[in-house]
Amino acid sequence: MSIVILAGCTESKETDGQVGKDKDKLQVVTTYSILYDIVKNIGGDRVEIHSLAPVGSNPHEYDPLPLDIQKTTDADIVFYNGLNLEEGNSWFEKLIETAGKSGEGGPVYRLSEGVVPKYLTSDGNKGEEDPHAWLDIRNGIKYAENARDGLIKVDPTNAEVYKKNAKDYIAKLQDLHQHALDSFNKIPTEKRFLVTSEGAFKYFSEAYEFEAGYIWEINAENQGTPQQVTQIVDLINTKDVQVLFVETSIDPRSMEMVSTETGVAIGGELFTDSLGKLGEDGDSYIEMMEWNINVILKNLVNN
Ligand SMILES: [Zn+2]
Repeated sequence: MSIVILAGCTESKETDGQVGKDKDKLQVVTTYSILYDIVKNIGGDRVEIHSLAPVGSNPHEYDPLPLDIQKTTDADIVFYNGLNLEEGNSWFEKLIETAGKSGEGGPVYRLSEGVVPKYLTSDGNKGEEDPHAWLDIRNGIKYAENARDGLIKVDPTNAEVYKKNAKDYIAKLQDLHQHALDSFNKIPTEKRFLVTSEGAFKYFSEAYEFEAGYIWEINAENQGTPQQVTQIVDLINTKDVQVLFVETSIDPRSMEMVSTETGVAIGGELFTDSLGKLGEDGDSYIEMMEWNINVILKNLVNN
């Protein structure tokens, strides 16, 4: 009898001050929605995930809320993208330090581990890593493998669950990559040119044989300056580009200006740095990539 009472006491103490924490589940933090979805697919019902930068927002820059700090402090594992993504105002680095997760307090896992980085080329950013590796689905597979390995490391008891989930999910991603290749093969080579606001399509372009143009190279710099607009307008005219795209997580006004100046229409919205809202289009990594494939195909085959 006394043992039962003691166990009860210990339990209530452990959950003290921990917001909505299900202590049977592994407590996970991810920095933005795309990582949330990949980790959720591997962790399944064994994990409870708190994601930082909200859906529809820009994960390059984020101001963590008190709840984010608490969740990160309580987390068994924190997953981030790395490759210069969570670098705006060093928000992630500061959060990890505040939460006591730097150094010994870890573990903090970089999901892009093993990705061959691509580098920025514009003035002021030259030589910095380009973060948007996940837009090449083969890198998405690496993220899934890294999520699996990270979860197994902090929760070896459930290793078989994570391995099984990863195997099933990676098979779906392999099919998706093949679907992307097959779909884009319908677009003539000379039409494979993507113009977006942010230059998020470096990894994508290499994987699926596109060329890409942008107004600004990365979301953390000055965006949509007159000089940047002039440069992309010149490129659109030189390359005879027939359609422009905007991203769901970026203010469309700069691209609307480019559209007005060139007379080239905006053909659709693409997902780059965020998933869609839950229950709406693009609300998972697979759904967002499928959406992008369809929008690109529809616009570039017909234009
Ligand atoms: Zn971005």
